[in-house]
Formats: sequence, structure tokens, C-alpha cells
Amino acid sequence: MLDDRRKDEFGLLAYYFNQAEHKLKHLALHDSLTGLPNRLLFQDRLQQAVAMAKRHDHKFAVFFMDLDNFKIINDTMGHEAGDELLKEVALRLAGTGRKMDTVARLGGDEFAFIINKVDGIEDAVSFARRLNQLLKTPITVNGHNINMGSSIGVTICPDDADNSEELLRNADIAMYQAKDNGRNTTCFFTREMNVRLQQNKEILTDLAESLLQGHFELYYQPLFTIDHKTLVGAEALIRWHHPEKGMIPPDKFIAVAEQSGLINELGDWVLAQACREIKTFVNVGIVDIKVAINISPVQFRRKDFLQHMLLILEQHDVSSNFIELEITEGAVMDNVDQAIDMMKALHDAGFQLAMDDFGTGYSSLSYLKRFPIQKVKIDRSFITDLENDDDSKSIATAIIQMSHSLGLDVLAEGVETEAQLQYLQGEKCDYVQGYYTGRPMPASQFIEKFRRAKDTSLANETAVSIITT
Ligand code: C2E
Ligand code: CA
Ligand code: CA
Repeated sequence: MLDDRRKDEFGLLAYYFNQAEHKLKHLALHDSLTGLPNRLLFQDRLQQAVAMAKRHDHKFAVFFMDLDNFKIINDTMGHEAGDELLKEVALRLAGTGRKMDTVARLGGDEFAFIINKVDGIEDAVSFARRLNQLLKTPITVNGHNINMGSSIGVTICPDDADNSEELLRNADIAMYQAKDNGRNTTCFFTREMNVRLQQNKEILTDLAESLLQGHFELYYQPLFTIDHKTLVGAEALIRWHHPEKGMIPPDKFIAVAEQSGLINELGDWVLAQACREIKTFVNVGIVDIKVAINISPVQFRRKDFLQHMLLILEQHDVSSNFIELEITEGAVMDNVDQAIDMMKALHDAGFQLAMDDFGTGYSSLSYLKRFPIQKVKIDRSFITDLENDDDSKSIATAIIQMSHSLGLDVLAEGVETEAQLQYLQGEKCDYVQGYYTGRPMPASQFIEKFRRAKDTSLANETAVSIITT
């Protein structure tokens, strides 16, 4: 700073110079859209907070907040509307802290807080509640009332960490956990989250390597008509043969692949492999079946999803009529109209569509009515309890009747006992899948079990063409 106390023109010059410098500094340390401190200033304040906490032996909390579905609003209503929304959120957030606290915008739709001198987790919980409350009132942009949700991660210094980098990372990890838990929630950092993060990183590296090395296999689980007489299809279920850890079930790695986007490559491999094996099935006489493929929401939301699938089919010379796509409600509920357009296009292109794990998500009848799907798969959790739990019985029955009234077929997943099968037969369920009628098995075993002996020799000679569209 220059000395601007002099009463001559040098003093005046110094005054203007200092003002400009002040402005520049402010610009460098604040976000231009909202006027809140930016990431740089936040980090600086965080370091100060750590030093103060050490000196005075008190605790403070770091909050990380990410708006839910901001991207969708930005994409559908335009960037200006997005900016207006961010400004309003910032205004509300700025009013929350005490003078000694810091509210910052780290970038995009990410905000962060330093809440100084908290006595413990209870103080932090009550602040998290206030944050949630703040966004409860809808925000009006361009005449639309928008309900904003947010996912919040919290970490406490020095309980969780006593340096700024680690605190920031912890709050970020906890925020991602909150997103995973279904959005609009708050999560406190725990050490287990860190351990899980490390494990997930390891899984991801191994997955990428295994994709290159071809360590995956598809198992096929037979799908039957409810009388258990006719084989109508097979669900393709991925298996990972980890070179050191042995077989790893999909529940352990699909979520990691989804978070990282690797699920796209994995999904491509699944479809390509299914195509290769469909050809083998047909060649040995298993002709009139559909192979059901699980589609991750990440794949389904891609704009070029349909073109991409068709390209793989074309490369393998297989018709879409052989494929049933299993989609979950989670994939379609984010943007229902767009999802319906995609489903229509997929169906027009020859794919069969099934709603997977039905009953566990939104299970909304009004939406089901609008979805151009052909089949509903009742989630395994209801079938498991069929024998002992009246609620499960009435849910299964309701799903069957409701689906039939909409003209949809119904398949029950996870049928393990004769009693379960009988109940479903009585309720006129259409199809069955489960350990009782057949476990998932390698393609070779599937062929052994279901090839029609009489067709085999013939099919081998005439390598059947399976292009039908
Ligand atoms: P899902 O789509 O619900 O698949 C059915 C799961 O239930 C399979 O588990 C199957 O082995 C299991 N199952 C079938 N019948 C029974 C039964 O009678 N009793 C019991 N206890 N379980 C039964 P799996 O193969 O471990 O797959 C788990 C999940 O991983 C699948 O659930 C699906 O969501 C996902 N998944 C599997 N393969 C793929 C894939 O290629 N792509 C994607 N995106 N997800 C996949
Ligand atoms: Ca499935
Ligand atoms: Ca399922």
C-alpha cells in the first residue's frame, strides 16, 4: 500500500492506486457472479481456521454443498436462468453464517462453509438443518418456481483431520456419499468413507486393466413362462474373473464403474459379448429367445445411446429383436420426457424394454402408464418374503394386476421355492426367473442345457442367419 496521507497530488495518486489495488485484490479473491469468497480465499480462510483452532483448542466444521440437478436446470432453462438461480442461492447462504464464519462459492454449483467454534457434531447438525431449510422455499426464476435440493458433506476439525487439504478432501468425500445416499441429504465424514474410497480406486484401476485383458464373462440365467415349460429368454449377468481375487460379483463393482463412467465401456463389452453368444445360441438351435441386458442409468442417459447400441449390433450382424433392455426407474425419473423419447426410439428400433427391480423405486403407476415398455420385473425382495409376509403378497399381486391392466407382461425375479412359484401362478404372473428354475450359468452350460438335440446337427451345417430387421 502507498502512503495516501499526503495532501499533494502524490497523496491523491497514492489514494487512487490503493483503491485500484483493493479492487483487484477483491476481484482475485471473490466470485464475480455471486460476490462470495472464491476457492482461493476459502483455502486461505481454512488455513487460518486450522491455526486458530490449534491455538485456542476449539473445533470447527467444514461444509461442502452441491446443488442437486443444477445441470439439468442449466441445460433446460439456459445459462442465464442458471446464473439467476446461483445468485439467489448465494444470497440465502450468505445470510446463514455468523460474522466469523466463511461462505464461499468454489465453482459451478459448489458452495463451502467454515463454521467456526462448534462444540461438536450437534452444532454442525443443527447448521446442516438450517441449510436444508433455506432451500426449502422455492426459487423463482423466469416465472418458474424451482425446488432446489442440495447434497451436503461435513467434516470436523480436528476430529477428522487437522490440515486444510485433508479437511477439504473429507468434506468432498462426505458430499459424494450424500449424493450416493439419494441426494438432498447431509453426510458426516467417517474414516470408513476414506477406506472405501481407497478400495474403490483400486477396483477402478483393476477394472480398466481387466477390460483390456478380457477378464469378464457373461452368465445367462434362464427365463421361463410361469408354467415353467417354455424357455423364453435369458438374462445376461456380468462376471469378473479377477486375476488375484477370483470371481467378483457385479454388486461389488458396477457402482464404481458407474461413478467413473467406465460403465460405458463395460456396457459396450456386455452387448458385444451377448451378440457373439446369441449367434452361438442360434447356431445350436436355441433360436426363439431374447437375451436381457442390464442397462446402467449412466448408459441410458447418453444422447447417442441408441445409435451406439445399433452400431454394436451392426458390427456383430445381430438383430435388435434378440435383445431386451432392462432399465431401472432411477434411469428414467430424472428427466421423464426425455427418457420416454429415448424408450420410444429404442422400441421403434426393435428392442424390447423391461422395467427392472420394480417396486423398489418410485413405483409410480401414473408414470408406468406413460412408459413405452413391454414388461415389468417384480423385484426379488418381494418374492423372497412371499410365503411369510402378507404385505409382500399384496404388493406382488398389485404389481401383477396393475401391469396387466396396462397391457404389460410381468416377470417375477428371484423365485427360489415351489411355494413361491405356485403363488405367482395363482396370481397369473407371466414369467419366472430364479434359482428354482435355473441359476445364472456360463454360456457353454446354458447351451448344454437348452440346445434342442434334434436341431443341433442341422444348425451346425447351415449357420443360421439371425438378421430379421
Ligand atoms: P439384477 O438385474 O436384479 O439381476 C438379478 C440378480 O439376482 C443377479 O445377481 C442374479 O444372480 C440374482 N438372482 C437371480 N435369481 C435369484 C434367486 O433365486 N435368489 C437369489 N438370492 N438371487 C437371484 P447378480 O448376477 O449378482 O447381479 C447383481 C446385479 O448387478 C444385477 O441385479 C444388476 O443390477 C447388476 N448387473 C449384472 N450384470 C450387469 C451388467 O452387465 N450391466 C449392468 N449395468 N449391471 C449388471
Ligand atoms: Ca436385471
Ligand atoms: Ca432385477
